[in-house]
Amino acid sequence: MYCPFCNALDTKVIDSRLVADGGQVRRRRECVECSERFTTYELAELVMPRVIKTDGSREPFDENKLRAGLQRALEKRPVSIENIEVALSQIKHFLQVTGEREVSSRIVGEEVMRQLRELDEVAYVRFASVYRSFQDLSEFQDELNRLTELKSTPADDG
Ligand SMILES: [Zn+2]
Repeated sequence: MYCPFCNALDTKVIDSRLVADGGQVRRRRECVECSERFTTYELAELVMPRVIKTDGSREPFDENKLRAGLQRALEKRPVSIENIEVALSQIKHFLQVTGEREVSSRIVGEEVMRQLRELDEVAYVRFASVYRSFQDLSEFQDELNRLTELKSTPADDG
């Protein structure tokens, strides 16, 4: 990076160490031109990507909106608020680790459905039927078949 004192193009790292329990890297740098020293801190940027809607417009990721959607799907279902929050943070984590600045709303929706499927099948079908706005009945049937297949896979007891 540029030297903040003389704007020289080249600075060298003379020391590098982990700080804040490994959450940050602290670097001592020295300017090759003027020999001034300065410190930089590097930390992972975990921002939520913006959501690209189907009409191509972008909007900020809205956690409250997503929470409301999950709660609507899970209305009167035997799922605790705590489990909803866990699912919500997993969805957020999934979106953060994509490393993308923008993700399509379809990707968000698929991840929401994946989480809902684990929480409650009824809520999953509710959400899927609204979210995917199924083109026709056969598409909905495919979804139900997929659900039945997943249910019959012997993945429990593990
Ligand atoms: Zn300098």
